[in-house]
Amino acid sequence: MVGPQSSRGAHRLREANRRAALALLRSHGALSRADLARELRISPTTASSVVADLLAADLVREAPASTQGQRGRPARLLELATPPGVVVGVDIGRRHARVAVATRDESVLAEEYVPVPAGQDRERTTRVVQEYIDVLLERTGHGHADLRAVGVGLPGPIEHETNLIATGSILPEWVGYDIVSVLGEHLRAPVSIDNDANLGMLGEWRHGAARGCTDAVYVKVSTGIGSGLLLGGRLHRGAAGTAGELGHTPIEPEGAVCRCGSRGCLETVASVPSLLAMLTPTLGEDIALAEVLRLAERGNRACLRAITDVGRAVGRGLAVMCNILNPAVIVVGGPLVAAGSPFLDGVRDTVVRSSIPANGNVVDVRPAALESRSELVGALALAARTAVDRYDVDDHESASLSPRR
Ligand SMILES: [Zn+2]
Repeated sequence: MVGPQSSRGAHRLREANRRAALALLRSHGALSRADLARELRISPTTASSVVADLLAADLVREAPASTQGQRGRPARLLELATPPGVVVGVDIGRRHARVAVATRDESVLAEEYVPVPAGQDRERTTRVVQEYIDVLLERTGHGHADLRAVGVGLPGPIEHETNLIATGSILPEWVGYDIVSVLGEHLRAPVSIDNDANLGMLGEWRHGAARGCTDAVYVKVSTGIGSGLLLGGRLHRGAAGTAGELGHTPIEPEGAVCRCGSRGCLETVASVPSLLAMLTPTLGEDIALAEVLRLAERGNRACLRAITDVGRAVGRGLAVMCNILNPAVIVVGGPLVAAGSPFLDGVRDTVVRSSIPANGNVVDVRPAALESRSELVGALALAARTAVDRYDVDDHESASLSPRR
């Protein structure tokens, strides 16, 4: 006789198989039932039953005949369906927020850039973000009921357990703020949060310069320096969720004291503020990055030199990563990428020169393909995953699964 214990076990196993099948279809594209059975190491009967569940939940569909180019009796292929509903992505920075609404296969329907005035408090910024989400939902003909999940990126380490921003953020006033609950209550949808550089990696991996990679690093050089790590085809978040803090790599033992309390961190010589500080003696106190980029384009030697020096410093930090992680691609994001080769060549040459030849010679250093939108696109990808993880598979299953929120 099958008791409640073993029935619950079978239930979990079924759910795990469905999630694994969705993950395989997401990474491989169209697959047959036999492919799924082989990859998941389950029987053909179980694979057919998993597929039947996913078809019934509109999560997969039979692929069109044109993509089924087998000779002989063709195996019917399955692919991910575009499920109903929309997702929202939010990327919050020190002086901006970006908000987008997309379909659940991550096609953007509407998007807005929202400037954030200096000194605006976190509650006000969150309210403005909420208003923009409502406006964009309305503009695309949707309401809160259509919203399946929200992904939020913030510039700081995010603790996995609590979803709170940890100390070390460039938004110190956001440390400990529970934006996930605030947005979740207003929107009545599951909200996921991650560090902006992790989302930059995710965005560039799904839709940008790291498509098809399994091992890559995304580095964002801005007010701070963060990185997102893709290792073996998975985003690596670390034990507490705060991996990739490249900006706090000590590179100058006698250097300036960093905001993290350490000394000579990469950020103290290679961030946008340190670039501007470097140029203050020649260009004055109020010099802005846009002006530095303009002057560099016109051949200003001081600006070109400072930008290349920053690139080289970033390259020294990345060379350490390159030696340890052996990525195939390093995607460089952030506003300095607009400077082009003076910056990127500084990064590239130093990575190659300062890492072991086996690793330095294979790594491809590329600018972010999504430019300033990498993090937003990653936030949408995070939301799309959250929607699959939290809704459909559970909704389709009987009520015995505990609610996620
Ligand atoms: Zn530091």
